[in-house]
Amino acid sequence: MIAIIIQSILSNLAIIILLHLSVEKLMNKRDKWPKLAISTGMVALVSVSVILLFYLPITFHGFWVDLRMIPLLFLTIRWGYKLAIPALMITAFWRFLMGGVGMVPGIIFGMALPVLFALMVRYVCKEKFRPENSKSLFFLITCGWLISDVPIIFFVPNGLDVFLHIFPYRYGSFLFAGYTLNFFIRHAIKEDLLIKQLQYYAERDPLTGFYNIRTFLKKIEGKKPKYRYSYIVMADIDHFKQINDTYGHLNGDEILKRLSSIFREVKAHFHEAEIIIGRYGGEEFIFYIAAGSRRHISSIVSHFREEVEKTYFFIKESKCAKVKRSKIRLTISLGVSPINDPSRLMEAIDRADQCLYKSKENGRNQVHFADG
Ligand code: GH3
Ligand code: MG
Ligand code: MG
Repeated sequence: MIAIIIQSILSNLAIIILLHLSVEKLMNKRDKWPKLAISTGMVALVSVSVILLFYLPITFHGFWVDLRMIPLLFLTIRWGYKLAIPALMITAFWRFLMGGVGMVPGIIFGMALPVLFALMVRYVCKEKFRPENSKSLFFLITCGWLISDVPIIFFVPNGLDVFLHIFPYRYGSFLFAGYTLNFFIRHAIKEDLLIKQLQYYAERDPLTGFYNIRTFLKKIEGKKPKYRYSYIVMADIDHFKQINDTYGHLNGDEILKRLSSIFREVKAHFHEAEIIIGRYGGEEFIFYIAAGSRRHISSIVSHFREEVEKTYFFIKESKCAKVKRSKIRLTISLGVSPINDPSRLMEAIDRADQCLYKSKENGRNQVHFADG
């Protein structure tokens, strides 16, 4: 008897883990697929697994039970009513079609009330309730089990005896399945975070947060311009070596960070244009700017220069560089070239670079445009 119970609990668990693996695969697509496709996929996966669980009941002395509540509770607590209600409706309808004496209590106590309870916890406790936290999970599963099994005492002949008899298997299997699923979910969340971090540092410069040159080129190469005019801009801080020598490299780094936030502000200000920023290396930056007119491009580029010129950069005290707290101003020089032929991006970068050197030669703190 016990062997059969364990066997069926394990097969219920196998379905739940298969569901988790499928959800994980689906979540990997969330940056590529539309949100509606992901939500629909999630509801479908949970519904199918709950329906499969109906067909793998755990039997105790003529009572048929299963772990359907676990996927429903997890779906509700993690994703809220938008996914929980459709999944509940699909699975409750299926249970209705299956019929039998256990149909009504099975739907009400085994599915609907636990889902409503989890929804209440999710929206009332909001910040305090962390589904991956062991104590929160214990509370959720214990309440879910009580909601689903305490009615047995009142609705079944000899209810208290039955309840006490099945209690260790029921409650034990709920906790076992819940914590096992939670273990896999926590692992998946950690892995996902790690992959995102790796991707971030592989694509970006850690100091400024801008794309490194490799990613910048990948983003631009073969890009279909949203607007008629697209340009490459090279920007370089004027006399930055001197700033480093006077105020120290740590202050130099802080200046680079502040400068990148100015660039971000200008980009946000011209949100109607398409602006992609990369750190070319050292104190040199590269921009891709696309807009509807040359005048617009020119105004954006001038804005970058003017905003830097207007800003005070704060210097921290440094014993090593022998400087006191103060504020300084600095300037940047820029070179601009149109992308005449997107397949010859390097030519545009080279021309922008030559223009940058012309800006430097002519006295710095200025913009030089390539012809054409
Ligand atoms: P110019 O106006 O001709 O561009 O003069 P410059 O001094 O800015 O140019 P130069 O190429 O001689 O010096 C660039 C300096 O930028 C040298 C280097 O110390 C500094 N630099 C490059 N990358 C970083 C960085 O990540 N942090 C700090 N603090 N300094 C950097
Ligand atoms: Mg420089
Ligand atoms: Mg330089």
